[in-house]
Amino acid sequence: MRVHQGGYLWEVQKLRSECPCLRCGSVKTVKSGKCTTTVRDESVRTVVLWLKIHKHRMYCKDCKKTFTEPVPGIWPRRRTTQRFRNAIAKACGTSKDLATVSRNHRVSHGFVYKICYEQLEVKLREHKQKKWPEVIGLDEHFFRRKKGITEFVSVFTDLKKKKMFEMAHGKDRNSLEEQLRDMPGRENVKVVVIDMSSSYRSFVKRFFPNAMIVADKFHVLRLLTPSIMKAGKEIHGHRQELSTRRKLLCSRKNLDYFVRVDIDRYLKDHHKLNELYRWKERLFEFYRVKGFSRASIAFHRLLSDMERSSLDEVQRLLRTFKRWKHEIIRYFENGYTNGFTERMNGTGKLVQRRAFGYRNFKNYRLRVLTACLFRNF
Ligand SMILES: [Zn+2]
Repeated sequence: MRVHQGGYLWEVQKLRSECPCLRCGSVKTVKSGKCTTTVRDESVRTVVLWLKIHKHRMYCKDCKKTFTEPVPGIWPRRRTTQRFRNAIAKACGTSKDLATVSRNHRVSHGFVYKICYEQLEVKLREHKQKKWPEVIGLDEHFFRRKKGITEFVSVFTDLKKKKMFEMAHGKDRNSLEEQLRDMPGRENVKVVVIDMSSSYRSFVKRFFPNAMIVADKFHVLRLLTPSIMKAGKEIHGHRQELSTRRKLLCSRKNLDYFVRVDIDRYLKDHHKLNELYRWKERLFEFYRVKGFSRASIAFHRLLSDMERSSLDEVQRLLRTFKRWKHEIIRYFENGYTNGFTERMNGTGKLVQRRAFGYRNFKNYRLRVLTACLFRNF
């Protein structure tokens, strides 16, 4: 051992082992001279450690070429051990930013950056279940704004196993199809849960031929929220009576008796708001129905009742319902919602926030997938 570049250098020797040819796999190899290689290894506490490895140059009798002995744990043409790279990648996951890692481990910024995403990719290979699951949740979240254009990321989750599955850049049909074309087993997909966006619907219809589309419950329930808030704003302006107005959005079933009385007293003077509120409650009631056939009867009754309303908002909602009729009722067949997908969206947003945003989608995908799939990475 000796001092070397502010750390220590250990001179070590590779033990002799059977070493087949790297080019042709032949075992007819003989030693043909010595050589050394110096590689960086994981630090001991905070002391930087280098390994000077004495090993042999080998000669292959079959292809008549020489090569140097490979050392387990060091990839070909690398000047660092896999152990060191793994330690850097782990540190990238736990430190507040990559610059801190670079300072603590005394390596360059570029090296840390490269290692971080390379090792994430290596880690992700452990989880190579590259086959579409039976039940999929599909949702999008914000990725970045480039030249005034907002870009989104689509998230696919396995709702049966409650696991993150895949991510793709963009949310329109063509770009999704292009990115996901090579993944096998898309005819196995039976159920896809989406929010009510027509681009996703057309994508799912074309891409998963045997899939049944289900409209997410939460997104159906919140369809009237903007109208209720807007009607309240027209009466009071921006902030007045806000706490009561917010309570209008809660399900009545979960509210206290006195709060309900309060709401009724408030709504007595505001007819339009009152009607919207009643329709919203009808929606909540509809989702409390048990069983597919009962739900479909209830839904048709709801639609025919809505036709009699004179409010524009309700008519607009009715048109949406007619377009998404089958998808909404199908929820009662299997009860899948996109709750888990939204949670994965939340993880994605946290990852973005911690890194002050991402520019490169490839890196972002690696980071989010590992964050969702592995507990300590
Ligand atoms: Zn050979």
